[in-house]
Amino acid sequence: MKIIADTGKCVGAGQCVLTEPALFDQSEEDGTVIVLNDTPDGELVEKAREAVNICPSQALSLEE
Ligand code: SF4
Repeated sequence: MKIIADTGKCVGAGQCVLTEPALFDQSEEDGTVIVLNDTPDGELVEKAREAVNICPSQALSLEE
């Protein structure tokens, strides 16, 4: 599984960071998402799915 982030769609809401700070951070400049680990395993897989579902701008997706 791989996390894909479309920073063009990201509105910097930070929901992904709140969901799992081990996977996501936000740019200091414009608040857009930075993926810290795009190939999660273990319990982070579920967290990645949660973040994809919770993102208000559909900026995150998963490549299975
Ligand atoms: S939840 Fe979505 S819109 Fe918000 S920072 Fe993360 S990727 Fe961007």
